[in-house]
Amino acid sequence: MKILVVEDAADVAKVLVSALSTDGHEVTTADDGLAAIEAVWRNKPDLVMLDIGLPIVDGLTVLRRLRERGNDVAVIMVTGRVEDADKVEGLTAGADDYICKPFSLIELRARVAAVQRRLGCAENHARNLLREGVRRGRIQRVPGLRPARFLPLFAVGRIWRDR
Ligand code: CA
Repeated sequence: MKILVVEDAADVAKVLVSALSTDGHEVTTADDGLAAIEAVWRNKPDLVMLDIGLPIVDGLTVLRRLRERGNDVAVIMVTGRVEDADKVEGLTAGADDYICKPFSLIELRARVAAVQRRLGCAENHARNLLREGVRRGRIQRVPGLRPARFLPLFAVGRIWRDR
């Protein structure tokens, strides 16, 4: 997977990059919130490991801005805060998962692998929906829209609703 690590603490970033690269991921980094937003649009990562306490723009704001603009990249919040209210805030803002510092590399890898499985499932689901749509002839009921253009929209709509 392409993973963007957003972390201002250089030592933590180093550990994350090292562990994720070892697992075969293509890892890039950003060390403040604004750079993170730019990197998401530029690099189109599959997953963002997003620290909450960041310079310039904090992690929760980064997440909200991405979601407001329709970006649904998978996000795991990484933070030193452990209060339940913060977890709820992160998840409500559209995070997929949450990991608290200090975390073990075993836990980190397990959570990243879970996201990877879900993304894999979503792709298979989209493919199956396309096949089903073709088989049932649903695409022919949309006048003026060529199947090749309509099918991805159909799949995305279904995935969105099924989430
Ligand atoms: Ca931080």
